Amino acid sequence: MAHQTHPPGFHLVRRDQLLQEAQHDSYKNKGKLPEPTLCQDCGAVYHAGHWQWSDKPAKANQTTCPACSRIRDKFPAGYVSLAGEFFTAHEEEIMHLIHNHAEKEKASHPLQRLMESVKLPVGAVITTTDVHLARGIGDALHHAYQGELEFHYNRDQNLVRVNWTR
Ligand SMILES: [Zn+2]
Repeated sequence: MAHQTHPPGFHLVRRDQLLQEAQHDSYKNKGKLPEPTLCQDCGAVYHAGHWQWSDKPAKANQTTCPACSRIRDKFPAGYVSLAGEFFTAHEEEIMHLIHNHAEKEKASHPLQRLMESVKLPVGAVITTTDVHLARGIGDALHHAYQGELEFHYNRDQNLVRVNWTR
């Protein structure tokens, strides 16, 4: 396999380091929100210190949640690159697994969402609103199909790039 250089500003991390590092997200740390706060775009409710899916409160502060902000700004927190002969041969099945994983995560974590999937001449790239979802997709692919999995984390931008190849 060809030697891969890291993208500028990124360094290779172990997945347990990634969990610790992914605490600093400028989209999430804009000061403490009043409770309850409603996202006027997706209906998620900020309550008890985190965003959750719940009934619309009778009276709520309104804002745009971090996930909807990232989607609006087209500013992903995670990139998952998919490549390899196995991927090309099983693309539909693999995309299905990714979408299933993402739906499950979104159901319990409103800020973890898929943004776009872009087909490339070789492989594809999927973007996410949250670093944990990108990492989770990488783990799910590795669990289901093995292959090669790499995490690159940019601390300054709180951005993760996951490369999965098989
Ligand atoms: Zn929202």
